[in-house]
Amino acid sequence: MARPDIDTGEVDLARHELVETGRRLITEGLALGTSGNLSVRVGDVIAITPSSIPYVDVTLDDICVMSLEGEQIQGRAKVSSEWPMHSSIYRSTDALAVVHTHSAEVVALSLVKEELPAVHYNIVSLGGAVPVVGYSRFGTNDLADRCEAEMKVHSAVILQNHGAVTRGATLAQAFDRALLLEWLARVYRLSLNYGEPRILSEDELAEVEAEVRRRRYGEATTEVPK
Ligand SMILES: [Zn+2]
Repeated sequence: MARPDIDTGEVDLARHELVETGRRLITEGLALGTSGNLSVRVGDVIAITPSSIPYVDVTLDDICVMSLEGEQIQGRAKVSSEWPMHSSIYRSTDALAVVHTHSAEVVALSLVKEELPAVHYNIVSLGGAVPVVGYSRFGTNDLADRCEAEMKVHSAVILQNHGAVTRGATLAQAFDRALLLEWLARVYRLSLNYGEPRILSEDELAEVEAEVRRRRYGEATTEVPK
């Protein structure tokens, strides 16, 4: 099979971003130790964090560069065990970055709930209520398939007894969505202490999306203005 062309400059930028953002996974409390993983698509290749190296120790040379078919082209380390999940999202969506977390609020929610409902209008950035996909062991094609099916319509999914996945047009956007998802799960949990939460309706979410579009003059985004 012919090797894909590699834009060396862009791949180097992706390596730097992955090393820096990997450290933020830990400092922002979205993962522990070596858990979670991040990737960026550059043309026909994907740069992804390695398996089993603490984020604080990951160097530029450890970042794995893979073809979409799963051939390791560059990087001295072993590719993340969740490679199948990352690659399936790139094959079936327009994502240019994927973030996988093991953050506490979404994991706790995944043990009990079928979805994270629309507790705040910012959830339109994630494609509305975020589904919890059923349990499959980490690293399996089955988990990748379950995740891929939901990622076609959402930019975030929660993995039962495991964590969460977000996608974006940039690594910064995918990471911000992971932070937003964790915050929304926390808000939902806190609200349950008071009683039955009021959930935004489909019409109310559609109105938010329309207003976001109007303010962005029709840009192809549903990112909510800060
Ligand atoms: Zn995981």
